[in-house]
Amino acid sequence: MNQPTHNFCAGPAALPQAVLKKAQSELLNWNGLGVSVMEISHRSAEFQALAEQAEANFRELLGISDEYAVLFLHGGATLQFSNIPMTLLAPGSKAEYLCNGVWSSKAAKEAARYGTIRAVDMLNIDEQGNRSLKDFSEVTRPSNPVYTHFTPNETIEGLRYARVPETSGPVIADLSSCILSEQIDINEYDLIYAGAQKNIGPAGMTIVVVRKDLFEQMHFERSPSVFNYQRQAEQGSMINTPATYSWYLASLVFEWLKEQGGVSAMESLAIEKSDLLYQCVDEDDFYRNPIARKDRSRMNIPFILKDEALNERFLNEAKQAGLVGLKGHRSVGGMRASLYNAIPVDGVLALNSFMRAFKTRYG
Ligand SMILES: *Cc1c(COP(=O)(O)O)cnc(C)c1O
Repeated sequence: MNQPTHNFCAGPAALPQAVLKKAQSELLNWNGLGVSVMEISHRSAEFQALAEQAEANFRELLGISDEYAVLFLHGGATLQFSNIPMTLLAPGSKAEYLCNGVWSSKAAKEAARYGTIRAVDMLNIDEQGNRSLKDFSEVTRPSNPVYTHFTPNETIEGLRYARVPETSGPVIADLSSCILSEQIDINEYDLIYAGAQKNIGPAGMTIVVVRKDLFEQMHFERSPSVFNYQRQAEQGSMINTPATYSWYLASLVFEWLKEQGGVSAMESLAIEKSDLLYQCVDEDDFYRNPIARKDRSRMNIPFILKDEALNERFLNEAKQAGLVGLKGHRSVGGMRASLYNAIPVDGVLALNSFMRAFKTRYG
């Protein structure tokens, strides 16, 4: 079995080979300590140095200034989209939620438990099931929302916003599935968050970047201290024990990203890889992606087979060809290939060859 395996899973997702090898090589003896990084105190000088370097590299990769706090927290993206309304949606205020898929809608639903929200349906769906994003000028949006929440990349449907919505209030975004894959201007956002397991590292950690000014508007009185972004910022995200191994692996991913040329290099690669796969899907009607071209994700590419009876066969034969993690989300069906930063161009080329050969056999 010399054939490489390419993992297109949506999350937890592929990590760079070089990172896994490095982690393997120092698993039993990290930093000359004779023990693994998992087995030392998060308050030790060695771990503190790792944590600080990881934060510095992350800030450098995304151009994040000191006006923002960067937090390495537990609880996943789901905890963050629950915590945000708990702390920001005071009685009498109203938040705007732009909804264009499963994750943005879940965030809206959770927020509605704590206060008043306006969920704005951003999706056009035609009779064939083709989807596109509505233009911001096409929808009625609330005036003076306490904040606007949106999900720039919808992981399940494979939809991407090309720009940040204009609004008078703070902009909050769930970047779980696109962080570090494209350049952003952090000044366009007041708070962003991302679960680690797509483009940062293994599951178990979530990065939150929050403009320190926003602390003044936050109500932390009734929630657990570990949910208090300001206190977490003051205490280096270590009010309690952080997810040290996830933090360590993320630090290796950030080093690797810098060696690869940073986020701009990842953005070019993401465009190249997704263009390659969409070309293959669009060739004829054997495969189909239902998203309008202008709104297509570069990270998550769902596609359906014209003959759905071939689904199982497709997945089995793909697996034999070393292409795994291609089963679509249960709510969408079909296939989905996630092309996060760790997926090399070769992986996409291998997938394309397989898809074309499969079409020749069964088309
Ligand atoms: C995966 C994902 C989530 C869920 O993340 P958890 O860490 O499991 O809570 C939320 N939002 C988006 C956009 C995602 O891709």
